[in-house]
Amino acid sequence: MRLDKFLSESSVGRRKNVRNYIKEGMVKVNGEVIIEPAIEINEKSDVIEYLGKVVVYTGKVYYMFNKPAGYITARRDKVNKTVFDFFDDVNMNGVFHVGRLDKDTEGLLLFTNDGEFEHKLMYPEKHVEKTYFFWALGSLDEEDRKQLEQGIYIGKGQILTKPAKIEVQKCGMYKELKNEMSIENLSNIDSNQYNQPVISGYLTISEGRKHQVKRMLKAVGCYVVYLKRVSIGGLRLDESLEKGQYRLLTDVEIKKLF
Ligand code: URA
Repeated sequence: MRLDKFLSESSVGRRKNVRNYIKEGMVKVNGEVIIEPAIEINEKSDVIEYLGKVVVYTGKVYYMFNKPAGYITARRDKVNKTVFDFFDDVNMNGVFHVGRLDKDTEGLLLFTNDGEFEHKLMYPEKHVEKTYFFWALGSLDEEDRKQLEQGIYIGKGQILTKPAKIEVQKCGMYKELKNEMSIENLSNIDSNQYNQPVISGYLTISEGRKHQVKRMLKAVGCYVVYLKRVSIGGLRLDESLEKGQYRLLTDVEIKKLF
């Protein structure tokens, strides 16, 4: 196995970072500094050290995480709590989040140390579908649905999205559906909006533009007040995971993603 691959799959860092660590002389193989990232090593018999500590090979790891609202998807942040705050009992060096969810979005977020896996899932031409459950202020008529399904212009740059799938679950007045919404932070709905129409449903997209679901729904007059990612490809969020909990993916689940 290549030395840079060994290190990136042992939670030392991402592939491009570990290449720099090697070139800068931070890595030893059997006691000798090696500065060539592509050198072949034997992960069973060679002793690899990074900054003087022996590195234990962990292999590729894949975590499913149920993100709560209120945390940003980043390794660290000066002001906010981040999704990494939940992983304090595992070594997350070299493990990164696959894509992002907004601070107020909940649900399925994946973590891995496998760069190829991230590439396959995230690149727009791969068309991996992501499904989001939403509650929004507003309503959708046939024309709105058609627009979402055909692709819709969003944002100032007037970007045309790829066709999406929309499935409406509930629609009615806020005052009637309020209890079903069970959203912790509804501060953005005030009592004047009691007679406001609200709608819930699932939007499935195959791209990952910034705030894409919110912007697509806004383009048809719906203001998202709750958003949760429920699936990526064939992988559904394990609903037995409480908000803030994570677990390793099974081999079967990893295959389901593509
Ligand atoms: N679309 C959004 O608007 N927000 C997310 O967090 C994910 C998709």
